Amino acid sequence: MTDAAFHPDFRAEPYWWDAAPPETARDEPLPARADLVVIGSGFAGLSAALEAARAGATVAVLDGGPLGGGASSRSGGMVSSGQKLVLTAALKGLPAEKQAAALEDSKATFEFLKDLMAREKLDADLQLCGRFFGAFVPAHLETLKRNAETLKARTGVTIRILSREEQREEVGTDYFHGGFVVEEYGGVHPAKLNRALRDAARIAGATLFSHARVLGTERDGDGHKVRTERGEIRARHVLYATNGYTDQANPWLQDRLVPVMSYQIATGPLPPGLMDRLIPRRRMVTDSRKELTYTRPSPDGTRILFGCRPRARQLEPQRLALALRARMLRFWPELGQTRLTHAWGGYVAMTADRIPHVAEKDGVMHAVGCNGNGVALMTFLGWHAAQLMLGRTNRRAFFADIPFPALPPLVNRPWFVQAASAAYHLRDFAANPAEVVAERLGRPGRMHTTSKEAEG
Ligand SMILES: Cc1cc2nc3c(=O)[nH]c(=O)nc-3n(C[C@H](O)[C@H](O)[C@H](O)COP(=O)(O)OP(=O)(O)OC[C@H]3O[C@@H](n4cnc5c(N)ncnc54)[C@H](O)[C@@H]3O)c2cc1C
Repeated sequence: MTDAAFHPDFRAEPYWWDAAPPETARDEPLPARADLVVIGSGFAGLSAALEAARAGATVAVLDGGPLGGGASSRSGGMVSSGQKLVLTAALKGLPAEKQAAALEDSKATFEFLKDLMAREKLDADLQLCGRFFGAFVPAHLETLKRNAETLKARTGVTIRILSREEQREEVGTDYFHGGFVVEEYGGVHPAKLNRALRDAARIAGATLFSHARVLGTERDGDGHKVRTERGEIRARHVLYATNGYTDQANPWLQDRLVPVMSYQIATGPLPPGLMDRLIPRRRMVTDSRKELTYTRPSPDGTRILFGCRPRARQLEPQRLALALRARMLRFWPELGQTRLTHAWGGYVAMTADRIPHVAEKDGVMHAVGCNGNGVALMTFLGWHAAQLMLGRTNRRAFFADIPFPALPPLVNRPWFVQAASAAYHLRDFAANPAEVVAERLGRPGRMHTTSKEAEG
């Protein structure tokens, strides 16, 4: 079973890295000083570096590992415009004008990304293919319908609500109990986007350094001393763009972020015609489980990429891959013959208020807290952070204007994250015990038949 599941060339690293791997850039010595030191070479850090370098600042981007080795090149690459903030209760209790500002800013993130990609000619397989949201149990369909109407009313997107019969136009599975489509959402190749941002930042004049972990920052006159494992840099401005990988270099930030692992697998190339059955319109697909499932075709339409958070416990990659595959075969049992070529994970950062934050603390800027949804958002936040630091805007985005609460004690400890994940698992179990047990036992789902096949 195990051997049959894995391709002989199986690799425990992102499928995306085949086309755009992370990069080593450790030959050049660090500069003695820079106008801006950016810590982290993901979407947020590179977007900030690009903006600041374009404005004429000297910029050094430092990453503790290879460039682009964090969540940004590991992502599912699905892009929406603020749906997470609209649909979670994160904004409840805030004054109406703050809620409106939050909504405006999160809607702006996708437009910002599209404009940036067009302006800088970032080659990253942008596809405005729409997204299908599927109901895990019949009762969830009512919630999804309400969510769809909320998204339409508050963000202006085009929605289509689908019954279980109608959903077959979108996904070749009976796993869901209906759902809805948002036409405007889409996807990118996240590692290509990261690479294109690295290239653009360099062309604009920024210098990028891999394997230059920052150990801490201290005030130094009207600037800062940035201590790294490769020496010190004096910087006028500093930006922490470290999100789910934030470490002891900034304990204040670490006390505000919960790193949570998300995982994905990739199948090998599918037999001709199979994708037409699985995701005929090549949409992005997510579901209503607490342990969210997200799946999509690869940008070239040849493979299925399938992601979720099956359990918080760190398992070795092949066991994790099998857990994800079990869920994938509940969706699409016909993939049982297709071997897995890649499996990987990466950290996202959750915040206590479920809102991202871009602000200054003790003179040092941060842009963090994607809460699982950061392709457009973190790119936008990095840009905004650079604008704020360089005094290029008078407008402070909503995210820059709210207090950043510390987490309750112990919440970012690994055992707590595991307990929270187990609670999510239990809620899915309570909603649909037969499904969760079948997945755990590795029983494939029932093959979906189109109405034509059923007639034949
Ligand atoms: C498996 C997975 C699937 C996802 N799917 C989606 C999706 O479909 N859609 C979506 O919108 N979002 C998705 N996300 C979330 C999205 O990828 C992230 O929100 C986004 O990439 C975060 O970008 P970032 O620049 O803030 O951080 P990252 O890309 O994580 O970069 C942070 C960097 O900081 C560096 N760093 C940390 N500490 C230090 C230090 N002390 N010194 C130097 N460097 C340091 C790290 O090495 C890392 O490279 C997914 C994430 C994962 C992991």
